[in-house]
Amino acid sequence: MKIGFIGLGNMGGPMAANLAAAGHEVTGFDPIAPYPEGVTPVKSGRDAARGQEIVITMLPDGPILRAVAAEIVPVMAAGAVLLDCSTVDVESARAVAAEAEAAGLLPLDAPVSGGTGGAKGGTLTFMVGGPEAGFARARPLFEIMGQKAVHCGPAGNGQAAKICNNMILGATMIATCEAFALADKLGLDRQAMFDVVSTSSGYSWTMNAYCPAPGVGPESPADNGYQPGFAAELMLKDLRLAQQAAEAVDADTPMGQAARDLYDRFVESEDGRGRDFSAMLPRFEARGRG
Ligand code: NAD
Repeated sequence: MKIGFIGLGNMGGPMAANLAAAGHEVTGFDPIAPYPEGVTPVKSGRDAARGQEIVITMLPDGPILRAVAAEIVPVMAAGAVLLDCSTVDVESARAVAAEAEAAGLLPLDAPVSGGTGGAKGGTLTFMVGGPEAGFARARPLFEIMGQKAVHCGPAGNGQAAKICNNMILGATMIATCEAFALADKLGLDRQAMFDVVSTSSGYSWTMNAYCPAPGVGPESPADNGYQPGFAAELMLKDLRLAQQAAEAVDADTPMGQAARDLYDRFVESEDGRGRDFSAMLPRFEARGRG
């Protein structure tokens, strides 16, 4: 396929490289990031998008996505797929989809989970909103860049699925970390705590697969000085998006709100920036109730 790829950063770079390595003709644009092997560089988003069958965007946020879409939608070929893999607010995803649809394009919002490791290894999970016909066209590319793609419904539903998942993840990580810190103070050995919880009703992905306690459970960022992994500031971004969406539709999300507030403090006024989101454990460990 002829593919345009806009936004070749930590995630987009390896995703574009995997598409090129699989034999697709990939033309890319990024104002800063280096061009991966196999990707033909051009000088603007517009040049990357013109005449392609599929244009993929992997950008930092909603305002940038809206700006890029305004630039590229008018030059895209009729019937082409606009596949946005960025994590953005639901409102921006739906606004861009409406604009693209009005121009005769097939828009998909398809945020990912799996992080930079998943992007490099081609093992991402895609959560996809948009028309069935677009999903079917993009499926072969999802299979190269990822291991799973779930069609979640109409435009914006991919973003909705992503922020709901990550709201659960953030709140669960906090619960796991505060329980470890409490267990420490009650004199409970961390390995015993893991052995019980990971096989009892408190189990979760954060405990069983990504344990925040160093030396316990499978290898995780905790075993590597809390180097990310999934950085606390990226978790904060997703928790903010979840609260923005909850406000927009008047949903009561007290745990999500508490998680957003805690990660906000951790990243903005404590030492969380640049650390893995599981570094909440040493944060709790060092504190009392006050
Ligand atoms: P990044 O900052 O490394 O990459 C974004 C790229 O977009 C940058 O290289 C930047 O130069 C480029 N860009 C900005 N404005 C542009 C424009 N107008 N035209 C073309 N390119 C432009 O970020 P990332 O880690 O690759 O994340 C990208 C998206 O994926 C974000 O929405 C993020 O939330 C999401 N995401 C990231 C991870 C992760 O672990 N890094 C995991 C899941 C989802």
